[in-house]
Amino acid sequence: MEFMACRSSDKIALHMQPMNPHAALEKYFHYPAFRPGQEQALNHVLAGNDALVVMPTGSGKSLIYQLAGLMMEGTALVFSPLIALMKDQVDSMARRGIPATYINSSLDLAEQGRRVRGLANGEYKLMLIAPERLRNPNFRTALAQTNISMMAIDEAHCLSQWGHDFRPDYLQIAQARQQLQPKVTLALTATATPRTQGDIMDLLGLPDAARFINGFNRPNLFFEVLPAPDPKTKLNRVRDFLRSPAAEGASQPGRGGGLIYAGTRRETEEVSAFVREIVGLPVKHYHAGLDPATRAEVQDAFLSGDLPLVVATNAFGMGIDRPDVRFVLHVNMPGSLEAYYQEAGRAGRDGLPARATLLYATRDAMLQEHFIETSSPTEDQLRRVHGLLRDDIVGAQHAAPLSAEEITRRSGLKETVVRVAIEQLAAVKGDMNGEAMRQLMEMAERRKDHKRALLRTMTQYAQTEDCRRRSMLDYFGDHEVAEVDVCCDNCTQQKSASTQSEETRPATTQAERAALIVMDTIALLAQRGQGVGKGKLSQILKGSESEEMTRYKANRNFAKFAALRMAEVESLVSQLISAGYLKQSGDERPTLQLSRRGEAALKARAAVDVTLRPVTQKQTEIARARTSENTIEITRRMMGQGMSVERVAAERTLALSTIYSHCAQLIAEGLLSVDAVVPKEAQAVIRGAIEQVGSAMALSPLKTVLPPNYDYNVIKCVAEDWKRSHTEANAAPEAAAVEPSPEELEAMTTLFTKLREWRTAKAREASVPPYVVFSDDALCGIAQMRPATREALLVVRGVGQVKLERYGEDVLKIVAES
Ligand code: ADP
Repeated sequence: MEFMACRSSDKIALHMQPMNPHAALEKYFHYPAFRPGQEQALNHVLAGNDALVVMPTGSGKSLIYQLAGLMMEGTALVFSPLIALMKDQVDSMARRGIPATYINSSLDLAEQGRRVRGLANGEYKLMLIAPERLRNPNFRTALAQTNISMMAIDEAHCLSQWGHDFRPDYLQIAQARQQLQPKVTLALTATATPRTQGDIMDLLGLPDAARFINGFNRPNLFFEVLPAPDPKTKLNRVRDFLRSPAAEGASQPGRGGGLIYAGTRRETEEVSAFVREIVGLPVKHYHAGLDPATRAEVQDAFLSGDLPLVVATNAFGMGIDRPDVRFVLHVNMPGSLEAYYQEAGRAGRDGLPARATLLYATRDAMLQEHFIETSSPTEDQLRRVHGLLRDDIVGAQHAAPLSAEEITRRSGLKETVVRVAIEQLAAVKGDMNGEAMRQLMEMAERRKDHKRALLRTMTQYAQTEDCRRRSMLDYFGDHEVAEVDVCCDNCTQQKSASTQSEETRPATTQAERAALIVMDTIALLAQRGQGVGKGKLSQILKGSESEEMTRYKANRNFAKFAALRMAEVESLVSQLISAGYLKQSGDERPTLQLSRRGEAALKARAAVDVTLRPVTQKQTEIARARTSENTIEITRRMMGQGMSVERVAAERTLALSTIYSHCAQLIAEGLLSVDAVVPKEAQAVIRGAIEQVGSAMALSPLKTVLPPNYDYNVIKCVAEDWKRSHTEANAAPEAAAVEPSPEELEAMTTLFTKLREWRTAKAREASVPPYVVFSDDALCGIAQMRPATREALLVVRGVGQVKLERYGEDVLKIVAES
C-alpha cells in the first residue's frame, strides 16, 4: 500500500510515499515512458505552477492530472462534462490503486451524501464532478473544509464562448476557483485555437500560465479531401469510399470500425439507408433526436465492435474511445477546424494506419454561413426566451431550470436559436434593460464574426493545395516537425506529379479535348483577371447571347460548346471540379480556378477522364431517378410493390416527410402515379384548390385555401402531378444517349449556328427578342435530332403547333440543306 492514512485533527489525510514521476508512472500505470508533452506539463504542475495543456483526444491528458492529483498533497477536483464516463474513469483508477471517486446525479442521494462526507474527510486523492455540482450547497460546504490540491478542468474549451462547445456552467468553475484558492489550476483541452486558449486563461484568471501544446500530429492518419459538389456525387463518393481498400477493414464485424459524420439528423438517416441498402453494409444511424435506449444501443454495439459502421451527427462523439476506428468520413464540412479535427481524430487511436476523409462542396460552406446567420436570435426572440426562463425561476422557486427542448416547445422558436439565446442570456445578470440588450446584440454580432472566421479556416483547409497535416498543425499552434511518409492527398499528388510527367497520355477523345477547352477558358479568364463561377463559365462556353456575356465574346472559346445543352456543359465543369482539376474559392459567389493538377494537365495537353453525353433534359431526369444508387429509387420500388408511404418510412427507418418528398419527385418525373400516394378524394379537393388559386407553383397559397388537415407533403405530391400533366404535352421522347463522334458534334454545331443566324434575322424582322422565336434549347434539340418531317419537328421540346405553323417550313429547309 502506497498510501498512509494519517489522522490529523478529525480528518484523514492520504500521504503518498515520495516518488518521482517516472517511478509513479511505472508503478501505477505500468507504462515505460511518458508520451510527448506529458512529463513537462506534469513537472510544471508538481512545482506548483498553473498550466494549460492542449493535446488531442487520446494523447494522454488524463494521465497528467491523475498523476498530479496522486502525487500532490490534498484532493484534486477534476471537472468534466462527461457524467457518463466518470464511473469508468474512477473504476480504472481504483484498479490502479488510486483512491478516487465521483459525485453525479446517477447516484442516489444517500450515496452522494456519503461521498460528500468522504471528500470533507480527505478520503480521496481525486474527485470527479461536473461543473453543475458546484450549485449544490452541501457540496460547497464540504469543499470549504477540503484541502484542495489542484483544480483540473477537463474539456476546458467549454469555458469559452469562442470554443465550439460553450457551456455556461463552466463559468462557475472560474468563480469557485477564486473562493477555493487551489494550489494549482490545470486546464486541459483537445481543441483550442490560440484565441480560445487566451480566453480560457483569462476567464480562469491565469493569463500568464504556461501553455503546453503537443501531440497534435497523428502520424498514422492520412488526410484527404474529396470534392463532391452535389448530393448525388456525395453518395457516390460514400459508396466508392466504402468499397475501396481504405474502408475494407471496416466492413465486417471484428475487423475495425468506421464513422461517417453527416451534418443533419435527416442526413444521417438518408446516408445510413443508402449504405445499408445500396452499398450493402451493416450500419446504424445516431443522432440526438433518437430515444435514449436506441442511442445507448447503437453506441454500445459500436464500442463493442459488433457494429462496424455508424452514420452520426456530432452528437456521437465525446467519449467515443474505440481504438480500431479505421476511418472517419465526413459527408459535410463541420463549421470549424477544431470540430473537424476532434471528430476526425477518432480514427486510428490504436496507432495503426487510418484515414480522415472530408467530402467537400462549396455549397456546404454556404449552408453553414446561412446557419450562422439564422441561429442568432433577434432582440424579440431573446426577450421571449428570457421571459420563459424568468417565469420558470420565479414559478418553480429555483428548481431545475427549463431544458432547451422545453423552451423550444413553449416558445415555438427553432431549437438552435433557443440554445444560442440561453447561452447569451447566461452572460447577463439581472434585468433585461436596454443596456443589457444592447450588450447582448453586440455580443451576438461578435459571435457571428467569430463563427465566420472559424468557418473560413475550415474552408481553407478543404481548399488548400499545400500539406493538410502541416496547415492543421500550424493552425493549432503545434510547430513540431511533422513529416510522415503517407501524409495527405496533396503530398501524395505532389510526389506523383514530380515522377509522372513523361507517363501522361495526350488528350485524344472529344470529351478529353472538351475538358482542355474548359481549363483553357479558365486560364484565359484568369489572365484578364476575370473570375467566373460555374454558371457564367458554362454560359461563355455555350455562347450565351445575353447582354452581360458580351464582354466575354473575345475569349477564344466563347460558344465553343454551342451545340451542347447547358446541362451538359455544366456537367463537364462539375466533373472537372470533382476530379480536382478545377477548384472553387470564395464563400458567397465562388469562382473557379485551375488547381495545380489542372495547370499541369493543361500544360501537357493531357487526357482527363470525363464523359460528354448529349442527353435531353427528360433523359437527365429519368437517368437520375433510375440510377441504382439512388435512395429515391428504393422508395419507387417499394411504392411500386403497393406499400403505403407510412410503411416505406417505417421499413426504411426514414422520416415520413422524406418518403413524401421522394414520392413528389417521382411523381414529377412521371415515375410514380399520384394514386399510389394520395387518395382520390383528397386529390380532387387539392386539385380544386389549385384551380381556385390558379397555379400549383407555390404551396403556401394552396395550404391557406385548403382545410387544415391537408399537410404540405400531400399537397406537394398532387401539385407535382398537376404540373406534370400541364406541361407534359411538350415533353420530348427519349433519344439514345450515345456520345457523338467528333464529326457528328461538328455537324451539330454547324447546324445550330445556322439555325441561330436564321433566328436572329427572324427576330429582327418581327422586332422581338430571339428567344420569342425559338429558345436555345429548342434549336439545340433540332440540331441534335435533325427532323425531316413536320411530325418529327413537333416532337422537339419547345416546338408547339403555333411555332410549327409559323416557322416549320424554314426550319425543315435549313435542316435539309445542311
Ligand atoms: P485523453 O485524456 O488525452 O483523451 P487519455 O488520457 O484517455 O487521453 O489516454 C488515452 C490512452 O492512452 C489511455 O488508454 C491511456 O491509458 C493511454 N496512455 C496515456 N499515457 C500513456 C503513456 N505514457 N504510455 C502509454 N499509454 C498511455
